[in-house]
Amino acid sequence: MTTTRTPSVQKPWLDSYPAFADWDMPIVSEPAHAAFDRSVAAYPDRICMEFLGRTWTYRETGTMVRAAAKGLQERGIKKGDRVALMLPNTPYYIVLFHAVLLVGGVVVNINPLYAQRELDDLVKDSRPHMLVTMDLEAMYPKARETVERNSVEKLLLCSMTDVLPWRKAVLFNIFRRKTLARVEEDDGQVLFEDLIDNDGVFSSVNIEPDKDLAVLQYTGGTTGIPKAAMLTHANVSANAIQVGAWYDNSKIGEEKFLAALPFFHVFAMTVAMMTGLRYGAQIIMLPRFDLKTCLRAIAHKKPTFFPAVPTIFTAINTFPKIKEYDLSSIKVCISGGAPLPMEVKKEFERISGCVVVEGYGLSETSPVATTNPTVGVNKAGSVGIPMPGTTVEIRSVEEPEKLMPLGERGEVCIRGPQVMKGYWENPDETAKAMEDGAFRTGDVGYMDEDGYVFLVDRLKDIIIAGGYKIYPRMVEEAIYEHPSVAEVTVIGVEDKYRGQAPKAFIRLKEDESLSEAELTAFLKDKLSAIERPDSYEFRDELPKTLIGKLSKKELKAEEEDQENGQTEENAA
Ligand code: AMP
Repeated sequence: MTTTRTPSVQKPWLDSYPAFADWDMPIVSEPAHAAFDRSVAAYPDRICMEFLGRTWTYRETGTMVRAAAKGLQERGIKKGDRVALMLPNTPYYIVLFHAVLLVGGVVVNINPLYAQRELDDLVKDSRPHMLVTMDLEAMYPKARETVERNSVEKLLLCSMTDVLPWRKAVLFNIFRRKTLARVEEDDGQVLFEDLIDNDGVFSSVNIEPDKDLAVLQYTGGTTGIPKAAMLTHANVSANAIQVGAWYDNSKIGEEKFLAALPFFHVFAMTVAMMTGLRYGAQIIMLPRFDLKTCLRAIAHKKPTFFPAVPTIFTAINTFPKIKEYDLSSIKVCISGGAPLPMEVKKEFERISGCVVVEGYGLSETSPVATTNPTVGVNKAGSVGIPMPGTTVEIRSVEEPEKLMPLGERGEVCIRGPQVMKGYWENPDETAKAMEDGAFRTGDVGYMDEDGYVFLVDRLKDIIIAGGYKIYPRMVEEAIYEHPSVAEVTVIGVEDKYRGQAPKAFIRLKEDESLSEAELTAFLKDKLSAIERPDSYEFRDELPKTLIGKLSKKELKAEEEDQENGQTEENAA
């Protein structure tokens, strides 16, 4: 069992706990792959993976995992070795993730659409012994290049057509030839079909769940090389148990989880894949998010759980032909990664008839730390109450050793079995991120007297205008209330008088129009004069991260470039 240190902070959430869950439940510390092994034994004939119309049972998936584990051992992968998965959502991800863990390896999650330099940076930092990718033009040439540049011993190649139903595979070969990469012969290259061509009898490896790493999860820094959170086996399995405890109405072995978000992001890895497999669910995978494909998958494959990010719910809500799709199979959605505007939540619940609960977490917390209950009080604007075994403390921003009283703002800090071991090969950053054993999230928030957490903003996004703190998120929430607005991002831009001032970038809904003057008038009773944006920019697209979170980084960089350009012009 893990022992979660219980500090002397108030735990007002205990009185708010839903009847079906227990904050104090035992959270077993076990190898991250153990739950999947149990599901294989318990539900061998149930469908485990669904990919573009083709399915694999738990038995078939388990057989592939064991063969892949033996194949990895035969190719020299041993305890502690990193294996980088540069894969879209496909059966290969699920199989190799578990095979790597079985042999004691560490999965390095890599976004397959990264640019060459980003990929090189992560490979240089994590030094994987093997890199895994697909035979697709969008990935293979970059992977080969990085393998050569960084002397990675082996490149494991997975075939796209091998996992498609035969009819789709034939069509893919005829019509999507350009999508497939021209694969070169190479000694260091291994084909997945060769990797699993064995009897699956591998040598078992002893895992110490609290010590041994399961995953290196890179987390975006705004500058320089991102840092990797070291997630242990115990971290990853604990979070799947914690998330699973939240689903009151889940029927073990009968649920279907829609994995529209990519597994290389920790949210989908834990909430869609690990939790799903732990509870014997079918995992419906989409190789990338495409609105119509996603809607068709919901209508025809009838998922019951749908973890997603707010931009996906917005895209669905504002799709003009949404009435043509039956979304009624979905029972629960967990939204995370970014603020979920109330309007977006309510509209999606109206369209589908499901419950959408907002949760909160970070790569460093495997990721889920708080969630609104699926049954019970769901507070507007709150990211919910701490998950089982998790303690949330609000600490003074200026003096982090001080705990803030309920209702007052401070830095959100987290303790629990899902909190990472530290940053990979970065003791300085690890030390900075911890305060008295609690993980400092860098998010500002407060807790109300019922134990619900409200996020105010990220520390680094706060705009300081004439000494006054403006939280971009509050400004965004107010703008979202306008019915013509589809998406909005607010950042601080340089201001001669106030130091910084808020600027809003807005995407309007299709066929809507809105002037700056109309919006200013609309915001008059919602935001103070200081908080109202000084400038607006209407755009057809807003920058997003690769999992679809609205991103401020690019807009800040654009504004800085413009400001620098102006300074240079003035100086010339
Ligand atoms: P990442 O580690 O890349 O997943 O990003 C974690 C960050 O996403 C957190 O520090 C928060 O700032 C933000 N975040 C996650 N969930 C939410 C949420 N429900 N509302 C607002 N921000 C969120």
